[in-house]
Amino acid sequence: MRKLASIQVVNAAEPIPNADAIERIRVLGWWVVVKKGEFKPGDKLVYFEIDSLLPERAEFEFLRASSYKPAVLGPDGAMQAPGFRIKTIRLRGQVSQGICFPLSILPEGTPTDEDTDVTDILGVRKWEPPVPAGQSGRVKGGFPGFLPKTDETRVQILEKTIEKHRGLTFYLTEKLDGTSFTAFLREGVFGVCSRNLSLDPTDETSLFMRVAKRFNLEEKLRAFGAVRGFEPAVQGEVIGPGVQQNKYALKELSLRLFNVFDVSGYRYLDHADMLTAVAEMGLEVVPHLGTLVLSHTVDELVALSEGMSVLNPKAHREGVVLRPLTEVQDDYLGRLSFKAINPKFLLKYDE
Ligand code: ATP
Ligand code: MN
Repeated sequence: MRKLASIQVVNAAEPIPNADAIERIRVLGWWVVVKKGEFKPGDKLVYFEIDSLLPERAEFEFLRASSYKPAVLGPDGAMQAPGFRIKTIRLRGQVSQGICFPLSILPEGTPTDEDTDVTDILGVRKWEPPVPAGQSGRVKGGFPGFLPKTDETRVQILEKTIEKHRGLTFYLTEKLDGTSFTAFLREGVFGVCSRNLSLDPTDETSLFMRVAKRFNLEEKLRAFGAVRGFEPAVQGEVIGPGVQQNKYALKELSLRLFNVFDVSGYRYLDHADMLTAVAEMGLEVVPHLGTLVLSHTVDELVALSEGMSVLNPKAHREGVVLRPLTEVQDDYLGRLSFKAINPKFLLKYDE
């Protein structure tokens, strides 16, 4: 689970060229711009990641002019309370991600061990952009327990994890900014899910059911399952008109897969097998950007995330996703797979 607010230790402080009132400090693998001298290496502080929505309280009021978000309808259909939204900003040329406060903002008696999650104690929630009405369609229920949800952890909190997997070969794909899509077969029944929900298969107007129909997914999964002898699921990103501002300016809906899953055996297919499977089904994968042998720092991986989209050279790509060629279970992450988000994308789209 992502920790939006946590206790962290400053691991470096560096000047910013041509700026004397501010400097940058490093917290986890993030760089944050602060007032000069406010924090020094070794200091403990409360760190709020980007996407945090801070509650309205006196200590945070200085954020009102820049960051206030009124109540909006969230993706789960419930109203999200108003607050102050923390996002990626650029100050004097330096990208700043997150915000730091002294431990004194914590209620008395809060544990302050490094990495303690203080999200709930401080009433911090995740900022979710409002969802356009009518996109998800009629819901059937929660996300099925026999499938993993799609999710990727940010590289900035994975310094130790990437150190541990040094020398392993990873493949890189472009992270597409659309909406997560899953289709599966289970005990002979075909189903479709959004990021967090199971959808009503009879709702022909929903984006997700339109995608399933357009790409003949039921038929394809049945044919593939019959050949392979297991019930499959495919997971990918839907992009195109009507989805996330269609940043790639596509003319038609497109489904780009990044997982093929064996539902019966509860396992992901390894990379090569996944590519073969997707080709066999006549579907498409997310853009592939090659492989690397992991020997990189967090900063180097963030630098790698920068670049233009394969789908539209005029659009900054959202980032990259890294996975080993052969599936690996990691103690901390579970499935070894993570993302590096392009700071230029976040700045450009104000995300
Ligand atoms: P956070 O976890 O950082 O709070 P989030 O949960 O909203 O944010 P995203 O930034 O949407 O996560 O990143 C994870 C999603 O990225 C996956 O659910 C998947 O739908 C999508 N995705 C897009 N492109 C890819 C890709 N190439 N490989 C894997 N997942 C991808
Ligand atoms: Mn997530």
